[in-house]
Parts: sequence; C-alpha cells; structure tokens
Amino acid sequence: MAALASPQQRLETERDMRLLVVEDEIKTADYLRQGLTEAGFQVSLARNGLDGHHLAMTESFDLVILDVMLPDVDGWRILQSLREAKNATPVLFLTARDSVDDRVKGLELGADDYLIKPFAFVEVLARVRSLLRRTQAPSTQEAVSYTHLTLPTSDLV
Ligand code: CA
Repeated sequence: MAALASPQQRLETERDMRLLVVEDEIKTADYLRQGLTEAGFQVSLARNGLDGHHLAMTESFDLVILDVMLPDVDGWRILQSLREAKNATPVLFLTARDSVDDRVKGLELGADDYLIKPFAFVEVLARVRSLLRRTQAPSTQEAVSYTHLTLPTSDLV
C-alpha cells in the first residue's frame, strides 16, 4: 500500500481531487479514508446515509464511493437522487452482496463501477484512478491514443 501511495506514482491531477466516501461500517470507512488520503486525495467521509445524501447533493466531488447497505437512506437512494438531479459525478458502489441483481441494479441506476466486499485497498485505488482517468481528461486520452497510432511501423516491430 505504501508503494502505491508514493508521490511518484500519483497522477498530477489527483492532488486536488475530492472524494466522498459514504460508509457506515467504522473499520471500512476509516480504512478507506486513511488509504485514499495517503494516496493524495481529499477525502470527505459520511458515516450514514442521511449525511451522505446531504453531502453528495450539496457539495461538489470528483468521485463518490458509496456503500449500498446504509441505515436511513441507502446507497441506491443516494445514487438515484444524484442522477435525477443530473449530477454526473462518477459513483463507485460497494456491495457485500455477491449478487448479479445488485450489480445490475447499481449500474442501471447510473453507477460507473462497483466493488464487492471484502476488497483489497489496491483494487479500490485502481478503480478510483481508472474512473477518474475516464471522466477527467478525455482529450488527453485521445491524444495519447493518436500518438500511438501514428508511430512509424518500424517502431512497432
Ligand atoms: Ca454498510
């Protein structure tokens, strides 16, 4: 984990990225907050669905990590509210239920990716970075692809 959080491996754009973590399980929430903070993100943590719903709807984040099973307001409701408000913030949801139905439901409600608990932190970080790359810098991604496509054929052998 320490190696992955080293400054050399961070994306430049990650330094000011704001993440919202909505998770009621204390250990998981603290583990996510600590790891993501060490990886250079600014992390806001909501420990219940009401606070998570409020923060997600009133503040601006680059990505939301959303537990599905929450007291009061569950993750589906938060996700639904965001999308109904035309808020396209990428959402990575966490589910303990290893069921196809849950995964499909989350994706149909507009989530971008999911993780099934228990998960390894390296996987959280990889998914977060992948989602941020997809949503933050489309023009850069295209430029990189274009460069590769136009390499002289001699370099491709
Ligand atoms: Ca939970």
